[in-house]
This record gives sequence, structure tokens and C-alpha cells, in this order.
Amino acid sequence: MADHSEQIATLRDELATLRDEVASLHRDLRRAREHVDLTMRGQLRCRACGCRKIAHAMKVLDRADGSLREGMALYQPSWWSSKTRGELEAYACTRCGLVEWWVVDPKSLQPHDEFLRIIDGELAGPTDPYR
Ligand SMILES: [Zn+2]
Repeated sequence: MADHSEQIATLRDELATLRDEVASLHRDLRRAREHVDLTMRGQLRCRACGCRKIAHAMKVLDRADGSLREGMALYQPSWWSSKTRGELEAYACTRCGLVEWWVVDPKSLQPHDEFLRIIDGELAGPTDPYR
């Protein structure tokens, strides 16, 4: 009888240890998932079809308003200057055509009344449409 309760105590301890380890692994897994890079730029793999041949357009031409050789950008801060901010580059899958846009110099982005607002996810929280 004493032998059984000793075994049960040992099993309880082992169970508690395993629970702690599982909780720790859950935390690690959650942290790892937050840092998974699923981009074509990062993985050189299309997330839609798995293709490994990715086209990289270092500059995307903006053909509007006669600006034949200008690079496409997010906005033009001032009417008086042709200087643009947020010049774009793109990665495109050579099989299915999925395109991923990137701003070449994201640190240059500043809020603009008309063209750009910056949403701070740290302050706003995650945008979960099912919440
Ligand atoms: Zn693809």
C-alpha cells in the first residue's frame, strides 16, 4: 500500500514537471510563430504555389502623368517638389504571378495629412477580423 502511494507521489511530481515543460514549449512555439517570415523576399519561395523562382523588380516604373522613368512610390509629400517617399520594389512569383510590394526605404516614411498615416500595432493591438 505504502509502495503505491509512493509511486503515485512520484507520478504526480513527474506530471507537474511535464506540465511545466509543455507550458514552456507552448510559450517558445508562440514566440517562434510570431517571428516566422512567410514573405517571398525572405524565403525566396512563393507562399501561394511554392515556386522557388522569384522575380525581383528593384524599381517599379510609374507611367502616370508622363513621368516615364520615375519609380513608383507611396506619396509625394509636397506639390512643389517632385521628390517622392516610399519608393516601391516588388517580388513576383514566376509561376503564378503573386506579387509582393515592399518600400525600399521604410524608415523614410512620415505621416502625411493627405496620403499616409502610420498605425502603431503596439498601441492599436492586433487587427483580428474575427474578434
Ligand atoms: Zn506562385
